[in-house]
Amino acid sequence: MPLLAQRPTRPAVTILIHNITLIDGNGGTPRPRADVLVRDGKIAALAAPTDSTPTTTIDGTGLFLLPGLTDAHVHLSGNTFPDNAATLKKVLQGGVTAVFDVAGDTRLTSDLARAALSGEIESPTIYYSALFAGPAFMTDPRIAASSIGYVPGEAPWTRAIDASTDIVRAVAEARGTGANAIKLYAALDGATVKRIGDEAKRQNIRLIAHAVTFPAKPSELIAAGVKYLAHAAYMVWEGMPPSTDFTKRAQGDFAGVPADGAVMTRVLQLMKDNDVALNPTLWILAEGPGKSDPSGLRTAWQNLLTRRAQAFGVTIAAGVDSLTTSADPLPMIHKEMELEVTGAGLTPLQAITSATRGAAHAIGVDATRGTVAVGKIADLLIVGADPSANIRNTRDIRYVIKDGKVVFTK
Ligand SMILES: [Zn+2]
Repeated sequence: MPLLAQRPTRPAVTILIHNITLIDGNGGTPRPRADVLVRDGKIAALAAPTDSTPTTTIDGTGLFLLPGLTDAHVHLSGNTFPDNAATLKKVLQGGVTAVFDVAGDTRLTSDLARAALSGEIESPTIYYSALFAGPAFMTDPRIAASSIGYVPGEAPWTRAIDASTDIVRAVAEARGTGANAIKLYAALDGATVKRIGDEAKRQNIRLIAHAVTFPAKPSELIAAGVKYLAHAAYMVWEGMPPSTDFTKRAQGDFAGVPADGAVMTRVLQLMKDNDVALNPTLWILAEGPGKSDPSGLRTAWQNLLTRRAQAFGVTIAAGVDSLTTSADPLPMIHKEMELEVTGAGLTPLQAITSATRGAAHAIGVDATRGTVAVGKIADLLIVGADPSANIRNTRDIRYVIKDGKVVFTK
């Protein structure tokens, strides 16, 4: 018997969301008076059923429906399984239905991901990545913490790469952790990055990266096949002399390499042409703990670069690098979307797209999620006021639907 046939069958719950304004995640004008039918965990139709009566009807009059939000930059490691489970439940109730963990201990993330899929914990769907970096980075205390039981740099999910590494085996072992992607972090040059990229392509695993891996520049990462560059501010290193001091990554020459200059124009065009997403992380590098920007130069620079990337047609993938903070009752993705609007100058609809379709595309899961469309997973958020008029209205959460089930109502 095929394994899939032994999975517990979902109850045949159907939910009709009736007469709602639909923001489908593609960025177009909101559609009033929409009907959305959810059945067996998926979006079955953008219409009321003709063949049966829905189990539940949600009166959407005056409400707004959007795809569940995706935070495309989280780190779950460093916290215990129970602590993560509590945070993830809260985050789900705050409208986040998928997260992408971009490096840590995949033994923890895979355990959480499995528990989320099986329903043992209430959680967004969890995708996660393995990390490759040069040996010089392996002394970072976070590496030791996420590699307990291994010599730092030798765990399959946190691998030191140098000229002597068996890349075929390293990529295969990273894939074996169940990771959706390999993240290139630091202390990697252009040639090494290309070698990893060629093998990752052959073994069909997605490659993502910090926007600079010291010394490799953004353009070298793009040439290697990376599909997602994290931290807009790090893009400045495209126009700076190569450095191997990865601790300086957030201290670029923001005055000397203008975000609207020829160098950045060229790299944005490369991103567009090669379908490379930008994960700006505006909040953490403008206001995050220990990341203050007294001159405001970095903040202005990353805002302008993000606005230009949007104008070029580069996919913007919202992701915070801090799933929650004690200062905000809701997951920080709401704050990140707000800064995309108030700081970077995106429209509210563009900001919503960055946390729905854009984030799903950057992770490589947009075939099944990220938009409200027939056949997609029914991960949905219903809010009480128009977020296309004011992005802060994503905070006015009335319902969260995960895999076709209502998991939060207010
Ligand atoms: Zn991060």
